[in-house]
Amino acid sequence: MDAVSTVPDMPQFDGRAQLCDSVLHASTELRGNMHFESWASRLRRQGAQLVWHSPADYDYFLLHQDNQHIPPANPVQGQAVQLLRDAFTLGASDIHLICHATHGNIALRRMGMLEPWRDMGGNELMTLMRAIYQSMTEAGSPSFDPLHRQEGRIVNRRFLPPTVHSARVHTEPLQSATGAGLLMTLRLLYDTVDACGHLQERLSALGYTAAQVQGLAVLAHRPGLTLVAGPTGSGKTTLLRHVFEALAEEMPDRAFLSIEDPPEYPMQRISQVLVDGSHVERGQAYAQAIAGALRADPDYLMVGEIRHAEAAAAALDAALTGHPVWTSIHAGSALGIFARLLSLLTAAHFADPLASLRDPAVLSGLIYQRLLPGLCSQCSLPLAQALQQHDYRQNPQLLAALGRLRKMGTALQGVRLRGQGCDHCQHTGRDRLLVAAEIVPMDAELLDMLAQRDIPCATARARQLGFIPTGEQALAMITAGQLDPLDAENCLGITAATGSQTVLDRQG
Ligand SMILES: [Zn+2]
Repeated sequence: MDAVSTVPDMPQFDGRAQLCDSVLHASTELRGNMHFESWASRLRRQGAQLVWHSPADYDYFLLHQDNQHIPPANPVQGQAVQLLRDAFTLGASDIHLICHATHGNIALRRMGMLEPWRDMGGNELMTLMRAIYQSMTEAGSPSFDPLHRQEGRIVNRRFLPPTVHSARVHTEPLQSATGAGLLMTLRLLYDTVDACGHLQERLSALGYTAAQVQGLAVLAHRPGLTLVAGPTGSGKTTLLRHVFEALAEEMPDRAFLSIEDPPEYPMQRISQVLVDGSHVERGQAYAQAIAGALRADPDYLMVGEIRHAEAAAAALDAALTGHPVWTSIHAGSALGIFARLLSLLTAAHFADPLASLRDPAVLSGLIYQRLLPGLCSQCSLPLAQALQQHDYRQNPQLLAALGRLRKMGTALQGVRLRGQGCDHCQHTGRDRLLVAAEIVPMDAELLDMLAQRDIPCATARARQLGFIPTGEQALAMITAGQLDPLDAENCLGITAATGSQTVLDRQG
């Protein structure tokens, strides 16, 4: 990239204009600036194209620039930067560095599955982790302490691969027979700029089926509280972000506010409010941020996560005043979210929470989602062909899984298994993520059944409204040859993957 400063007579314009590959990007603040206009017209005569960005979009553009190539401070830091680059090239979402005192290894999570990648000596790995924490991570405590849990974030662009916006760093002390060890996890937060456009386009690009897209679009245009659950890495933040960015684009005359701790991704056209919790407890800090945001007159509100009772109560207050509010919550199924929300509200001493929740204009929708590794379209094998090979025929885990499928009366003709890997899938045997999403638009009847804890009736009613349990969705993916039965069982657990687990089992 050519920075403007490399053009000889180029003024700086406070960094609000940049020339990249013959395209001149400029913030609209520079409109009417005589110096800028004359300089820009000169460049345009030389063939450059001028692209105006709103000030907020220009900030976003700046964040997406390639790194400046500044050499690392020392060889260990260089090794850490290379590790991030390698993980990025291989399409990993997480890096696990595991040190067991004398020896260690690095594993990568790709397509949702953790795979061993490289072995390393214990001392060498500990040195690498120290360098990552002390010289690259922004954290509350500047010094590395392998005996205590530590958290931070790599935000400096020069350490990060091109489309990785930041990396979340977490350490966990380990104790093993060989002595004290440490687990460090790095989560790469990608800017998935490939999903853009209107809501339906974005959701389809993220892998939602046509029916799921329709269900989510209905919820996106309703007032009230919509809650998204799913384990870490199941795409909750990505869903919230794209729903809000698409709505903000669709309705430029509305105010969109998000409250996150800390904001994970820059979002276009959304005002991102920080949770200032230096002096108060987290739940209270969230509640204060939500109450403060409401005074800022938003039309739509996004709350990163409600983990604490006070935050849940504040989010419900916002929904009660007629605001569409989207947030994520910890629960094991879509219908399980209701019980979880109720217990948080009860803990917050919310006056008669059931009465408030029984209105679909207040509690609008429940979503639970999982991401599953989709079989590589180039190297997966039809079941019959795979079973002719010794490796598959002798795999007891696979035979047990197939036995469970047969016992349920599942048709196995379309089933495919993971192949040996190819260049297309970077030798993982998987080439995309599949979304299994339980989407439940609330109505008065369903809310009454949930309030009375009548789970069988609530499940039946939810099905009429479009709810399909994740286990059933996974089973359909298996029979369609998109998902390996073993991957399904490893991700969802045996009972859920084979559809035999009821919604009741996953309550709370
Ligand atoms: Zn492949």
